[in-house]
Amino acid sequence: MLDGIAVPQPTSILSVEALHAALLERHAGAREFPGRDQYVGASEVGTCMRLVAWRKLHPEANTFDPEAAGRMRAGQVLENEYVQMVRLALKGQVRETGANQSEIVVEDAPIRFHPDGRLLASVLEPLKWGRVPVLLASGARIYLDQIPSGDGVLEIKTASSHQLRRFRKEGLNLAYQGQTQVQMGGQGFSWGLAVVGSRENLSDTEVFFLQADTEQFDAMKGRSHRIMAAVDRIRQGLLTEDAGMPEPETDRGYCSSCPIADQCPAMVAVRAAAGTTTVIPPDEVPDFEALADEYLSLKPEADRFEDVKDALKKRGEALGLSKGVLPSGRIVSLSERQGRESADLKTLKSQFPEVAAKVVSRGDSYSVLTVKETK
Ligand code: SF4
Repeated sequence: MLDGIAVPQPTSILSVEALHAALLERHAGAREFPGRDQYVGASEVGTCMRLVAWRKLHPEANTFDPEAAGRMRAGQVLENEYVQMVRLALKGQVRETGANQSEIVVEDAPIRFHPDGRLLASVLEPLKWGRVPVLLASGARIYLDQIPSGDGVLEIKTASSHQLRRFRKEGLNLAYQGQTQVQMGGQGFSWGLAVVGSRENLSDTEVFFLQADTEQFDAMKGRSHRIMAAVDRIRQGLLTEDAGMPEPETDRGYCSSCPIADQCPAMVAVRAAAGTTTVIPPDEVPDFEALADEYLSLKPEADRFEDVKDALKKRGEALGLSKGVLPSGRIVSLSERQGRESADLKTLKSQFPEVAAKVVSRGDSYSVLTVKETK
């Protein structure tokens, strides 16, 4: 009260709860493809058939919890950003993006897809002059001697920086190659670009060039038939899920985010080969995977840091430097430290066991972390 006048109390217009609710509302508006349990999407057809079949049989599992929905939404937002970057780079040579995306139905297979865009044939003009080296999906970088004609497919993907480095070294993964092949085959295009952008750094992108391959398109159509045939047999009760599911394909799977990884026979074999039967609880897997991915992404930086440190030290030692100031103002110092004292514990224990018993002790045990790829 101020001189008898009621002063309104400030209210929180922006709280964490309000922000979270607004974000969830936005997830709810994300694009959905009805009837997806009746066909195979181009983004699915090149991935593990067992997982794709399971998703068709359990559409309820495709409604994601807010955290998973948030991750998916983040991926979609980034893909839109990369579409805009490609449009800017190619100045008007990209059509049918965003709201103008079309749905394509493959005639002789249960496949439908929504291309990220159509690239005009003029995009290939610079290649005709042999000026631009092209990174093929295989990872090889070459100058094309035969330039395909007509319009092409634009496929946008996002990946962690670690995955992107792997694609550059080993080639685009089978799932993305299959997806782009289906889009080329389904539209009668002879070429396509798969643009993969880092999820951590928008300036870290790679463009893979693909030429249509009828054999690969046919193989993808065959996969879609096998998936839907397995799904139909299980739906009709002719086979149980255990007996009727397609084989797991770890080389094509997104095993890191697979909701059935804990029961997957291929994962049982991977655990056995690694000498463990421990199953990481499914709700712990996303955090473990994210941290392991970040660890592997950062490790080369840590190794490089040690290499640079060694090089700097050797340079200083060669100059006999103890302290030097660079024009930048940086002070580089090298100081001598005495070597650590050590004892021959084996000799001590065998020749003076009473002394060893009094002076030798063992520190607390500690854990050592290693992370390595198995595929
Ligand atoms: S864990 Fe991997 S191989 Fe097994 S079903 Fe899932 S995606 Fe397929």
